[in-house]
Amino acid sequence: MKNKFITIIILNILLNAKLTLDDMYIQLDVNQTILKQNIVPEQNELVSIGINSLGKEIFLSKKCASAWTKMQTDAKKDSIQMTIVSGFRSYAKQYAIINYKLQQGLKLDVILKENKLPGLSQHHSGNAIDIVSNSYKLSVDFEQSLAYSWLLNNAHKYGFYLTYPKDNKEGIMFEPWHWYFKE
Ligand SMILES: [Zn+2]
Repeated sequence: MKNKFITIIILNILLNAKLTLDDMYIQLDVNQTILKQNIVPEQNELVSIGINSLGKEIFLSKKCASAWTKMQTDAKKDSIQMTIVSGFRSYAKQYAIINYKLQQGLKLDVILKENKLPGLSQHHSGNAIDIVSNSYKLSVDFEQSLAYSWLLNNAHKYGFYLTYPKDNKEGIMFEPWHWYFKE
């Protein structure tokens, strides 16, 4: 099942590789003008931080990668285990994820509660990371992890900040795993 999902995503990426953001918005039938002010530029200078514990290669912007490596190393000294499950994501991949869900019969407004439109995800910048630790995955339970407490006390020293803290004023769902590197 998981392999099937990955295959479909790869196929979608290949098929949609030449689509511009405008094309994607036309395909998805969304109003582009409102979106244009919030576009996150797609990072084109990426570095690999290697294969994570789930066997996936993660790419980040150069500065974010070195900040992360330092933070992960220092956390380890405090016996905190952390790994990244999601770093840079292209516009095309974001589009493919949404397209896949549309093909599964989900409505766009439902999908957009969990996924940003292509162009609007902080992950396009190569400066956003999704962190997991031991058995704590991408869910609000991550708040209970030692890694989360450690991050709350230390992440800012490395330039990482929670984008969607609890009770944020934008009213966006609390995402304890999603951290954004500010240069
Ligand atoms: Zn994220």
